Amino acid sequence: MNIALIQPDVPHSPDEDLLGRYPPVGLAWLAGNIPEHTAEIIDLRTEPLPKKSWDLVGISCHTVSLEKAARVAEHLRTVGDDPIIVTGGHHTLPQELLEFSDYVVRGEGERTFRELVTCLEHKKPCTSVLGVLSHESCAPHRPPADLRSLNPPDYTTLSLSHYNPNQGILVTSRGCPYHCLFCVSPFGHTWRGRTPSQVGREALYLLERGAPMLHIMDDLFTYHRERVLSICSLFKELGCTWDLPNGTRADSVDAQMVSIMAEAGCIRILFGIESGVQHVLDSIGKQMTIGQTRRAVSMSKEAGIEVEGLFMVGNPGDTPDTIRKTVDFAKDLDIKGHFSLATPYPGTAFWQWVKVHGSFLEVPYRDFEQVPVFETPSFSARERVDLLEWASRECR
Ligand code: SF4
Repeated sequence: MNIALIQPDVPHSPDEDLLGRYPPVGLAWLAGNIPEHTAEIIDLRTEPLPKKSWDLVGISCHTVSLEKAARVAEHLRTVGDDPIIVTGGHHTLPQELLEFSDYVVRGEGERTFRELVTCLEHKKPCTSVLGVLSHESCAPHRPPADLRSLNPPDYTTLSLSHYNPNQGILVTSRGCPYHCLFCVSPFGHTWRGRTPSQVGREALYLLERGAPMLHIMDDLFTYHRERVLSICSLFKELGCTWDLPNGTRADSVDAQMVSIMAEAGCIRILFGIESGVQHVLDSIGKQMTIGQTRRAVSMSKEAGIEVEGLFMVGNPGDTPDTIRKTVDFAKDLDIKGHFSLATPYPGTAFWQWVKVHGSFLEVPYRDFEQVPVFETPSFSARERVDLLEWASRECR
């Protein structure tokens, strides 16, 4: 089958401030796991949609890009050869994706997409393909994949130079066993790691393609200590530098681990600190203490690693006062802080929390993360915006 995988254009995201624009990694994983087909990846953030036709088009959909994704689908149906349209991605309401597609791949896409494509190619019914939602049926969810059995992402149809300096994006594990209220947990709660040799091979490939350094984008890279140490010994052999811009948990590192990471080229760790106030951490189910964060930051700095913090404004338990205390905490730790708005996504536990404790504002999906989506009696939308700007300035 002649397949295109499309990354729609997206509004500027806070992630881009932190990381720059990085390649559509999820689509590269899909492309790598349909070895019977050649899939062209088209990133509409960096190039226009070519005038071509395809049998099947897969469109990646995040909540903020949903509108653009729908427009791409509409365009393909009206001016193209009416390809089969398959959507998937991190949007939390698959039914909304079905409004402009033929099939929705729910959850982790690689195996589901491959089986779906095989069925469609042989004109077989797709109703029994786990994870697929269609206009006719909704198959049960597919259990999480063993990452060791998946092929690596295929970047061959992407010009990685478009993404300089962030073409060295590497995913070594997926999933996180914790349940922080605000987190959409896109890869679920079962942590799964690739083998160190798989990680080493992909690292070498990215470095040979010109990546100046590697950015590990796992949900929780430091979860499995022995695996981290084995990966570090491979990174040391490669002589590369790398960082953890997606954040990791402060309670998942120890002094020896961070020192080995530093020797292996780790130059920056971002910790998902969220708040400097214990009762806010407890309200969001972070299962971590302020003391653990202090220790992790100090150990990492002592090992010679630059430390930055990911913080949030407006989580359950937050008030203007807790944000001021969080800024004091970041200053006391003497780290740069990246602040973002706590954003509930439809259908999540956080969304349910807002229904009970706050009120939603009328915000289109495209503006999610950029402006407050809700407010509470003790923390207005105006205060959220003002304190986000102030905290970001204070902790630069
Ligand atoms: S620890 Fe991080 S990845 Fe895990 S649930 Fe919490 S925010 Fe999400």
